[in-house]
Amino acid sequence: KRAGGRTYRIFAPQMESDIHAQRTLRNEVQLAVDRHEFVLHYQPIYELASKKVVAVEALLRWNHPTRGLLPPGAFIPVSEETMAIVEIGEQILEAACQIALKLPDDIAVAVNLSPVQFNQPELLIGAVRSALQRTGLAARRLHLEITETLLLANTPSTHKTLDILAGMGTKLVLDDFGTGYSSLSYIQDFPFSTIKIDKKFTDSLYVNTASSAIIKAITQIAKDLSLEIVVEGIETAEQESFVRMLGPTQGQGYLFSRPLPEAELLLKLSKPASD
Ligand code: C2E
Ligand code: CA
Ligand code: CA
Ligand code: CA
Repeated sequence: KRAGGRTYRIFAPQMESDIHAQRTLRNEVQLAVDRHEFVLHYQPIYELASKKVVAVEALLRWNHPTRGLLPPGAFIPVSEETMAIVEIGEQILEAACQIALKLPDDIAVAVNLSPVQFNQPELLIGAVRSALQRTGLAARRLHLEITETLLLANTPSTHKTLDILAGMGTKLVLDDFGTGYSSLSYIQDFPFSTIKIDKKFTDSLYVNTASSAIIKAITQIAKDLSLEIVVEGIETAEQESFVRMLGPTQGQGYLFSRPLPEAELLLKLSKPASD
């Protein structure tokens, strides 16, 4: 109508129902925050040579009342749009520190941070500080995973926030390494202690010789800079031995374990490494 005159627009019923679905999802996410419907699953990260668990990554799931357990891709984008991710992120930090207390104290817990959380640095820093204080967890056992998307802007504010988080003693992990741009400069500019190589390199080890060359080169750089390297998405024994041959010493993937609910994680960690 706004187009005026004698113009007509086609408004497909499909479009209408998509918009409706989006609006419903947004409202549902807010309700879910209040009802504590978000849960964390945990995927172990291993030292490949010894098969010792060095950390567990907390991965968010939505225990939806009618649709079942939803993966993060189904609701994180909407939560970022509405800023609900800020409150969800606070809940995750505390829950992750809680579970770390139930694990041997040489195992860390890694939490994914959304770039949106960095738009309100005081809230993020406050959430990390209070999660640590309320649980009494040693800061070095809290790893914060950050993707390159955040660093693209490279603003003074982001820089300062990362310095403060590292200054508190948490370990910063550069997540999904290799999916963005000019990654190498980030290692130099920001206080990271670990680089996590994206699954896309693991997937293409056998089809793309560049992948193995890159993993090998990054491992050498990381060694020179005293950074840890984790390779994600290891699904086969062949990939594992290829990765180990290239140099990285830590890995994560379905070959070793899928993300597990808390009870299953605790059970797995209480058994000998061969299980
Ligand atoms: P990510 O940080 O790269 O997490 C790794 C994803 O790869 C997880 O998917 C994990 O289940 C999956 N994965 C691990 N090993 C394998 C493997 O061997 N094969 C395959 N095919 N997949 C594997 P998930 O749990 O669906 O998480 C997807 C993304 O959602 C994460 O990617 C992360 O970016 C985001 N995310 C998850 N939890 C949170 C959270 O608590 N907060 C925020 N802000 N983002 C989160
Ligand atoms: Ca991650
Ligand atoms: Ca990742
Ligand atoms: Ca990834």
